[in-house]
Amino acid sequence: MQTKFTPDGDDIIVNGGKTFITNGGASDFYLVFGKWSEIDDARGAITALIIEKDTPGFSTTTPEDKMGLRASSTSGLVFENCRVPMENLLGKPGDGLRILLASLNKSRPSVAAHALGIARAAFEDGVAYINQRSQSGRRIVEFQGIQFMLADMATDLAMCENWLWHVGRLVDDGADDFGVEASMLKMRASDLAMQISTDAVQFHGGYGYIKEYRVERLMRDAKVTQIWEGTNQVHRQLIGRSFLEK
Ligand SMILES: Cc1cc2nc3c(=O)[nH]c(=O)nc-3n(C[C@H](O)[C@H](O)[C@H](O)COP(=O)(O)OP(=O)(O)OC[C@H]3O[C@@H](n4cnc5c(N)ncnc54)[C@H](O)[C@@H]3O)c2cc1C
Repeated sequence: MQTKFTPDGDDIIVNGGKTFITNGGASDFYLVFGKWSEIDDARGAITALIIEKDTPGFSTTTPEDKMGLRASSTSGLVFENCRVPMENLLGKPGDGLRILLASLNKSRPSVAAHALGIARAAFEDGVAYINQRSQSGRRIVEFQGIQFMLADMATDLAMCENWLWHVGRLVDDGADDFGVEASMLKMRASDLAMQISTDAVQFHGGYGYIKEYRVERLMRDAKVTQIWEGTNQVHRQLIGRSFLEK
């Protein structure tokens, strides 16, 4: 948000940068938030601007070498006296915070859907493996210690998937105040993806640590869902804060 937008006739001069941008370097269009230089209020100055890939003064950095999601590029964006036509403004100067918050409430459920897809895939791989692998003359799934883990995994997954549908219905019905529900969903779904993918690796024993098995990748891919679109610490703070009496 330290990126600066300075009006100059029919153009806007952009200076600053962004870190960790998904599809950075691969996209044709970038939606960039920054501060309008003529507005003093820090929140009121936030403005949204569309920047095209070949605009002079705009470059991207070398893609990051990531733990997971390795098929998706993540790069920094650099703006050095980058001149953008005024018509690329999304809304008016100062509309940015409203646009940002409205879009986050809708994008957080999609991060949760991504996380729950990872969780379900890990769960299904884990269940399939423990049904065919045997130790001490019994299938792994027959051990009670494993069944207790399965019970928690299956139950949490069922609850969380249903909360996803609930929040999805709020979006479809045009609800405008579901930030807390979206935070609860993003936080719980991503924690669950991390936990279930880790347990699914455990079900596989040593093979879970080997790249040949999908659970190894699912565990690495799960981690970022706890971090992006607001870390889970920040979501816990947002949910807790909602109970403060005004
Ligand atoms: C692969 C990848 C892709 C990304 N894609 C995009 C993208 O396309 N667009 C985009 O804008 N961003 C993107 N991001 C950025 C991402 O949203 C941020 O990395 C994330 O919000 C965390 O911010 P940070 O990295 O500055 O961590 P920090 O804010 O420095 O956090 C460090 C630690 O401190 C904790 N912490 C911070 N504040 C608090 C608090 N108030 N209370 C308690 N603990 C706190 C955090 O939870 C975390 O554990 C991407 C990141 C990654 C890794």
